[in-house]
Amino acid sequence: MERKINNSSLRIREVLSVLSLFLFLAFLPEPVFAQKAPPIIDMHLHADLPPFEVPAGTPAICRPEPCEGKGKATASHEETMRKTLEIMDRNNIVKAHLSGLDPEIMAKWIDAAPGRFIAAPFIFQPDEAGLEQMRSKFDEGFYAGMGEIATQLNGMAPNDPKLEPYFALAEELDLPTLIHTEGIGPELPGFRTAAGSPLLLEEVLVRHPKLRLYVENSGYPFRDEMIAMMSQYPQLYGDVSTITWLLPRTAFYDYLEALVRAGLGKRIMFGSDQMCWPEMIESGIQAIQEADFLSEEQKRDILYNNAERFLQITLGNE
Ligand SMILES: [Zn+2]
Repeated sequence: MERKINNSSLRIREVLSVLSLFLFLAFLPEPVFAQKAPPIIDMHLHADLPPFEVPAGTPAICRPEPCEGKGKATASHEETMRKTLEIMDRNNIVKAHLSGLDPEIMAKWIDAAPGRFIAAPFIFQPDEAGLEQMRSKFDEGFYAGMGEIATQLNGMAPNDPKLEPYFALAEELDLPTLIHTEGIGPELPGFRTAAGSPLLLEEVLVRHPKLRLYVENSGYPFRDEMIAMMSQYPQLYGDVSTITWLLPRTAFYDYLEALVRAGLGKRIMFGSDQMCWPEMIESGIQAIQEADFLSEEQKRDILYNNAERFLQITLGNE
């Protein structure tokens, strides 16, 4: 009899413990086993790839030569889009600045992932007629960002008067604006390193104090110039994009650590600049995550928080 009682009370206890486990799991805000990675914002994606022709399968560019690039170029815009979206889903990339020259290609991206992209015109050559057309695309809400302004690829410095209407428009419409102003770039005949000194941004920032400007690769490798500019002009941000994957890792870490040690860790944002190598998005994220000189909080700042503040959006972090 005593044994029987013990058995049934054991049963009841078992049932209760299973029940309480069930209740515990049911009332968790999100099931622990299905928890997503923390969100990421990619401040530097490309929908198309002017002005390059890259044969399918070509390894990603690398610097400095001789070096070996990783990855394989996609064969089409469609493949770039499909693979980029897969990687965005896998890594919980919730928002991205998407630069493009061809509005038709851009429209496909926007349709494929509504609300996920800040579409922005890629500026290779300033062109007054083009600016008028562009303005209508802003008015209709198609574009919501400016750049990449990549005129350095033609040797044009950021303080060239031909760029003035673009900065004026970006300031007027309060657009997040990406510019290629740094020491490195694609091997094009017109590219000029000297046109990429971050000091050349000073006139632009003085003339447009409300412009929300960020610099590709945080001006790499013009470290001291960039520290000076960011320290003096609090509206200026930088991304870490190709330098996360095309440089020797030590060179990237030296640069990033110098900026962070200079107190600029709250104004550096992750971007992949994936071009036709979507797998570089994950290489870039990994480079940030493996930086052992950064605290977890500093990594989250670069991967998400700083861009959220810069874009003036709230998506709900962690
Ligand atoms: Zn770019």
